[in-house]
Amino acid sequence: MTAAEFEALVTMQDGRCAICKCELPLDIDHDHDTDEVRGLLCRDCNRGIKLLGDTVEGIRVALDYLLAPPGSGLSPRPGRGRKAGASESPGR
Ligand SMILES: [Zn+2]
Repeated sequence: MTAAEFEALVTMQDGRCAICKCELPLDIDHDHDTDEVRGLLCRDCNRGIKLLGDTVEGIRVALDYLLAPPGSGLSPRPGRGRKAGASESPGR
């Protein structure tokens, strides 16, 4: 990637991370198999996709999990998800 291409990409992305749109310092994200540049990401988003396997399939599995979580319908985690003033009976 040339300096001119980098600047064109920054302009194309309006100086923001391609995923979360933050304006933190951006890293050049690339496909680790082909070395092709994919875009500019903040460090957190770049790390996030790497942790999910850096593949469409890995991210699809995570998306499927979020769309249909296996724990859906269970009680909230203790100390979380309660409305202010609501009381909780132990029930255990
Ligand atoms: Zn980001």
